[in-house]
Amino acid sequence: MLQTKERATIGEKTCNVKGPNKQMSVSPLSCTSRCALCRERRVLCDSHIIPEFLYEPLYDSKHRVFRLSTAGKPKRSFEQKGVREYLLCRDCECQLSRYEGYARDVLYEASDVVSGTPQGFEFLVDYRQFKLFELSILWRVGVSRLPEFKDVNLGSHERRLRNMLRQESPGATEEYGCIKIWPLSYRNIMDQLIMSMGMGKIERVQCCRLVIGGMCWFFFLSRNAIDARQEGLFLQDTGALRIMLGDFGIPGYMQKLAKDLYVNNPHVFPLKH
Ligand SMILES: [Zn+2]
Repeated sequence: MLQTKERATIGEKTCNVKGPNKQMSVSPLSCTSRCALCRERRVLCDSHIIPEFLYEPLYDSKHRVFRLSTAGKPKRSFEQKGVREYLLCRDCECQLSRYEGYARDVLYEASDVVSGTPQGFEFLVDYRQFKLFELSILWRVGVSRLPEFKDVNLGSHERRLRNMLRQESPGATEEYGCIKIWPLSYRNIMDQLIMSMGMGKIERVQCCRLVIGGMCWFFFLSRNAIDARQEGLFLQDTGALRIMLGDFGIPGYMQKLAKDLYVNNPHVFPLKH
């Protein structure tokens, strides 16, 4: 079990972020290089891959997040603002920040809950803004060179996702749909975690799996849904945002993760002899 007081971002890889009103960080040492989104040569910002507002619940009293890795002690155990890398120019940062500002309001400011059942919740959101937010996260973890996301591989979808973001086109409901699950078990861990669960197949479709905002986000790398049932779980172009409640095998994954972290981080969890 995780017993650190600090909240953790985890990776066999490495993680991090930023928020809607964040001051964009452009280091005086930052290089001029090619922006990953617009492909122009520009001064790059120290960009968050996972938006910073999603780190807010993880910060300790010193505004730090704690890094853990199943591969052993990371080079840096603490991050002041979540993990970042030089990725985007200022204009592209501003574009993605708009989606983040909207998503933050939806997720943290209790948007309109249309209905709630034992199976889940449904919110009403602006489809275009929230879908672009989802796409921006998927694309960013795919292009990131950070160790936290090294196992995310979007293949040919990366280029298409970049084009959709460049055109600010959210696509149809079934294009790159994302199923969000709020696990009922291990809440104390889920709420303190940002990580990639790597790639995996769900119903024969390759998926990118992330834990952020206390939820599991399963991004389907497909332009079509398998069937109406699957499509019904994605964000709808009517604005219906569905969050499923349930464990769906997640407790088994979390138990293995906790065990791997315990064994590989004796600097955090001293092994008993
Ligand atoms: Zn750019």
